[in-house]
Amino acid sequence: SAPIAPRWARTYIAGQFTGKKNTNGTYTVTLIEGDGIGPEISQAVKDIYSAAKVPIEWEPVDVTPLLIDGKTTLPQPAVDSVNKNLVALKGPLATPVGKGHTSMNLTLRRTFNLFANVRPCKSIVGYDTPYENVDTVLIRENTEGEYSGIEHTIVPGVVQSIKLITKPASEKVIRYGFEYAKSIGKPHVLVVHKASIMKLSDGLFVSTAKEVAKEYPDVTLDFELLDNTSLKLTADPSEYKDVVMVMPNLYGDIMSDLSSGLIGGLGLTPSGNMGNKVSIFEAVHGSAPDIAGKGLANPTALLLSSCMMLRHMSLNADADKIEAAVLKTIASGPENRTGDLKGTASTSHFTEQVIANL
Ligand code: NAD
Repeated sequence: SAPIAPRWARTYIAGQFTGKKNTNGTYTVTLIEGDGIGPEISQAVKDIYSAAKVPIEWEPVDVTPLLIDGKTTLPQPAVDSVNKNLVALKGPLATPVGKGHTSMNLTLRRTFNLFANVRPCKSIVGYDTPYENVDTVLIRENTEGEYSGIEHTIVPGVVQSIKLITKPASEKVIRYGFEYAKSIGKPHVLVVHKASIMKLSDGLFVSTAKEVAKEYPDVTLDFELLDNTSLKLTADPSEYKDVVMVMPNLYGDIMSDLSSGLIGGLGLTPSGNMGNKVSIFEAVHGSAPDIAGKGLANPTALLLSSCMMLRHMSLNADADKIEAAVLKTIASGPENRTGDLKGTASTSHFTEQVIANL
């Protein structure tokens, strides 16, 4: 059969990783197993990496939130581990709704200034969905916007939430988008925004993009309103296959779940949180409390995130091998697919099949 081409190859900027090999030729990677289905899908990754002899040693860390002076903080050993290894693989972390600690996902992104979140989304051959040939990538601003966490009760029944947009953070993610577009040979950046309504905040994002574009004469820049992108993406996703979308935080969150829906759901889509020094790779999905502990979770999104991580570390052959085995397993029929992909396989059966297909 024809070789399966690397499908998520365009998910890194080569050469950014500066970590050092251990003397035995391996790299140490921080592992945050996460909540809910996190431990189950992390176990699948560990088993598959061990069978594939990937030169990675996992360093598991605990990220149970600490409240210091009323601020949600990461335990220091976890911070030290990520700073030392420069790269981490992370399972989902649950966030209490409406009360309790600040999201640990946000805390991680802020602590390491992971300013760009890269989210590719590609149809999987052999798994049919109403949409074919989805091949999108969006880059989400990862540190501010509606996620600034600045909220006040003005008077009972009236709450104000601040959407924070700054020029430095916009510039960073937009420049990353241009560099990324160049590195993958798709020199078209599309900024998705709502500056028609949020004239100042999204307006700043748009004007910053126009400024940054002057540094990249070989990359074209276009703009589109978020609602229009939502409509067009669901009408014909193939229109977006040659552009790199860049957008403020909340829009990226929503549009990436929408994109996941086009290819068969959240069990399939990976992401990378990129900083200047440190990068953390994780699935787009959350902790899936409805299926946690039942052996039903699909580890594909975390596995593909780990392939993004391997490519970021220039371990391309290992990434290709794992990715090909995962895709072959999904294509091999419903008996080898998990329930979210209309299959009957348990997490452990899927894992065994991936290992058999290595
Ligand atoms: P979710 O992504 O956890 O689940 C949404 C639906 O998708 C559920 O039906 C779930 O069973 C299914 N699903 C998700 N991942 C799957 C997988 N790998 N295999 C099979 N089915 C899968 O979203 P939610 O329920 O809105 O959020 C649950 C918790 O996760 C919340 O506390 C939320 O804050 C957190 N969350 C964390 C992250 C992160 O860590 N980056 C991202 C999103 C949500």
